[in-house]
Amino acid sequence: MDLQNFETIRAELKRHNTHLIAVSKTKPVEAITELYGAGQRDFGENKVQEMIAKYEQLPKDIRWHLIGHLQTNKVKFIAPFVHLIHSVDSLKLLTEVNKQAVKSGRVIDCLLQIYIANEDTKFGLSFEEAEPLLSSHEYLQLTNVRICGLMGMATNTDNEAQIEREFASLKKFHEQLKQKHFSDKPYFKELSMGMSSDYQLALKHGATMVRIGSVLFGERNH
Ligand SMILES: *Cc1c(COP(=O)(O)O)cnc(C)c1O
Repeated sequence: MDLQNFETIRAELKRHNTHLIAVSKTKPVEAITELYGAGQRDFGENKVQEMIAKYEQLPKDIRWHLIGHLQTNKVKFIAPFVHLIHSVDSLKLLTEVNKQAVKSGRVIDCLLQIYIANEDTKFGLSFEEAEPLLSSHEYLQLTNVRICGLMGMATNTDNEAQIEREFASLKKFHEQLKQKHFSDKPYFKELSMGMSSDYQLALKHGATMVRIGSVLFGERNH
């Protein structure tokens, strides 16, 4: 791993007051240990089984971020320890997270994943779907989840103007929701957007967290 790269990115993010989530999916625990030794504490995984296996082997002050699609029947496995779920994309999932959070005696922080890309392969709620979720009676009764902000993935394209438009639209939607649904909830402040290829564009548009994998750990083999 290139620790020089890590230090450069860390300094760049610090200037923007932005958090680094090091995306360690498919990488061995040794790679995580190396970044941990350099001071990194937030790691992102997209598969529940892999996250659990790594959680069990690694220091307990690591903050684990679930960034991939989460199936309802797997929530119970991560509820005792997950730090932030970035990929909540339905009321059904949020209700299950709440149920498992109650069982674990925790309040679990979540982001709503919003669909901003011009692709049909990415998960997430549309702008139109997020509103009614937040206004629903069922959501308002959930006691053990906190929606701390939004997550989005831009289209995988070289067209930087398009990527910027998508990030800007998420930022704008974040501001609208904050005003309408979270004006008395200061914890609604996170905007998780930007990956290895586009995090600098995300920084321009107010990302509070970026999720970076391959630039830190090297390319994945699939
Ligand atoms: C894999 C992944 C990332 C990191 O991707 P890189 O291009 O390796 O930085 C970020 N977000 C999500 C949701 C991912 O699945």
